[in-house]
Amino acid sequence: MIYDENNIFAKILRGEIPCNKIYEDDFVFSFHDINPQKKIHALVIPKGKYIDLDEFSLNASPDEMVGLIKGINKVAKKLGISTEIGKGYRALTNISDHGGQEVPHLHFHLFGGENVGRMVE
Ligand code: AMP
Repeated sequence: MIYDENNIFAKILRGEIPCNKIYEDDFVFSFHDINPQKKIHALVIPKGKYIDLDEFSLNASPDEMVGLIKGINKVAKKLGISTEIGKGYRALTNISDHGGQEVPHLHFHLFGGENVGRMVE
């Protein structure tokens, strides 16, 4: 599969459409989900052009991998839900068809701000 340069998160990264930004560094960009499923529902995406976690795992550099994992923690801390300062959260990424992925740019959902319930319904 080839990365779609016109997916909605690519447009957000290029600043072509607005978002409710939370955090940005060299490796990640984070913003609030437009259709929140929980009290807090943030998205964390790598700045690199990766379709999903499998593709990221195969092709991302070690620095990009560390940057993404650390970026998730930085966003969680900023939102007050990391275990250092808050009560925790769920990090989830959907992968391709059976995973229910809608936007083909790798993204982690961070759900929190309340007890987020069972993992799979
Ligand atoms: P997924 O099904 O894992 O691909 O999740 C895609 C997520 O992107 C959904 O939770 C959508 O609500 C969210 N989403 C779609 N468009 C936007 C947007 N313009 N800004 C923020 N979140 C969006």
